[in-house]
Amino acid sequence: MHIAIEIVTVIIIALVSGRKFCGKICPLGLLQDLVYKIKFPLKIKTYKADAYLRYLKYLFLVLVFFIRGNEKIEMPPFAYISQILAVIFVSIILSRPFCKYICPWGLALAIGNKIPSTKYKVNTEKCTECGSCAKKCKMDIIPYRQINNVECIYCGSCEKTCPCKAISKKSWLPFVRRQ
Ligand code: SF4
Ligand code: SF4
Repeated sequence: MHIAIEIVTVIIIALVSGRKFCGKICPLGLLQDLVYKIKFPLKIKTYKADAYLRYLKYLFLVLVFFIRGNEKIEMPPFAYISQILAVIFVSIILSRPFCKYICPWGLALAIGNKIPSTKYKVNTEKCTECGSCAKKCKMDIIPYRQINNVECIYCGSCEKTCPCKAISKKSWLPFVRRQ
C-alpha cells in the first residue's frame, strides 16, 4: 500500500476506534493471543525494562517512514519472516510483545485512544482494588488505575473479569451499549 494511503487509513482508524482495532480486528494481535494461550512454565507479566522498551515503537515508526520513503532500500523477505517468527516465539511467554514494543501503527492509533468511539469507565464505589483485571490485562496495564491508557487495546478482558462489575463501556456510537 502506498505510504500516503496507509497514513490516511491509520488516521481514520485512530479517530474512530483508537487502539480498539488492535484488540478486536488486527490478525497479528489475534495470533499473539492464541500463541500466549500455549501452556508454558514461564509467563512474564511485567519486568523492570518493560516501560522503557515500550518507547521502541517510536523508533520503529521513524524507521518505517525512512524505509518507505527511500525507494533504494528494499527489505529482504527473510527480514519479515524472521520478525514474525520472533514475535510468535516471544508471545509464548509474553502477552502481545508486537503491540507493546514494535507496532509503529499501534503507536499512531494510541494517539486516537484520547478520542476513541468507546471508552471504559471504572466505578470507584464498586471497585475493591482486588487486582483481577490487572492479572487479565493483555497489555499489562492496571485497568482500575490506568483505564483508557494509551496502551489499552480495548480487548474487554478487564470488563469481563471484574467480579464487582465495576468496569463498563461508554460510547458515543449508537450501536454500542451505553452505561
Ligand atoms: S477487577 Fe474490578 S474490583 Fe477488582 S480491581 Fe479491577 S475494577 Fe476493581
Ligand atoms: S485495560 Fe482492559 S480493555 Fe484495556 S487492554 Fe487491559 S484488559 Fe484490555
